[in-house]
Amino acid sequence: MVKKDIKNFTLGELKEEFKKNSEPPYRAEQIFSWIYKKGAEDFSAMNNIPKLFMDKLAESYYIGDIKPLKHLKSIDGTAEKVLFELDDGNLIETVLIYSNKRKTVCISTQAGCKYACVFCASGMNGFKRDLSVSEILSQMLFLEYSLKHDITNFVFMGMGEPLDNYENVSKAIKIMNSPKAMGIAARRITVSTSGIIPGIEKFKELGLQVNLSISLHAANNRLRDSLMPVNKKYPIEKLIKACEVYIDGGGRMLTLEYIVLKDVNDSQKDIDGLSKIAKRLKAKVNLIPYSCVAGLEFKSLLREDVENVESGLLKKGISVTVRESKGKDIMAACGQLAGTIIR
Ligand code: SAH
Repeated sequence: MVKKDIKNFTLGELKEEFKKNSEPPYRAEQIFSWIYKKGAEDFSAMNNIPKLFMDKLAESYYIGDIKPLKHLKSIDGTAEKVLFELDDGNLIETVLIYSNKRKTVCISTQAGCKYACVFCASGMNGFKRDLSVSEILSQMLFLEYSLKHDITNFVFMGMGEPLDNYENVSKAIKIMNSPKAMGIAARRITVSTSGIIPGIEKFKELGLQVNLSISLHAANNRLRDSLMPVNKKYPIEKLIKACEVYIDGGGRMLTLEYIVLKDVNDSQKDIDGLSKIAKRLKAKVNLIPYSCVAGLEFKSLLREDVENVESGLLKKGISVTVRESKGKDIMAACGQLAGTIIR
């Protein structure tokens, strides 16, 4: 019999599985508590589970894991990056970023990426596959329990497009949020999307106050088409409509992410266009300094370049934050996660 990875089940699903096998559903809660609250990696550690049941469990299930190959820490102590190998040899990266009192983990949802945004490293080697629920959760569990970090914030901004792997990402979020598992408040979780409209429509159904960030990066279709090919399928006007429906349906305030690319999207006209969209969506804007990616031609920025865009937006009454660059020496920034390794 092929064993199943127990970390791919939500609590409801595991209870159903146990019920089918005439096991009491509360066993599922006990197992969840061991894996997600205590970081157990083996059934044998679960000392309140009867031996007979444990043996049966181990016949049908295993606790999935991903293998850390490299763990890098930035010299300035602001970021860490872990490179993991998956069971089939694919590589993914997970980043931890420190700022003020926050410890934010940046989670990958796919090995590679289909969307090939021209400024991003994740799509450079193409798309490999979706990550399973277990592989998504294992990244955070490793940082929380094996590296003993008290993570405060969880962002789906690593490799891949979270809303293109909606089923597994939404299950992972349910497990993260469940008080019987990790018990993470929805407000501390953020999903970032390149603008996959069907995913935004489904995202509401999650029924949780998870934050949604839209990677906008350009305020008109001509420019966005050239930076983010996904815009040809889901152009700005339709994307804005989907966002409006999302907000009207009770979604939390949106964030528009905007990488400042010198001489590409930082003119007054661009700022005007961005302000209009932000106003219409009552969204805040997060300006992201472009992180240089080897092989890409965008110019690196001076602080003033970002400040110009920031003050232009502030003048229009838009709420703006500027993302600090962390861990440059270990290429820990979003969009630099290429999953490559020099062995
Ligand atoms: N696919 C999702 C999530 C992963 S990317 C998305 O597009 O939102 C997370 C964020 O990093 C996105 O806003 C993305 O556009 C940004 N990003 C990608 N490459 C970057 C780079 N070189 N410098 C700065 N930000 C980058």
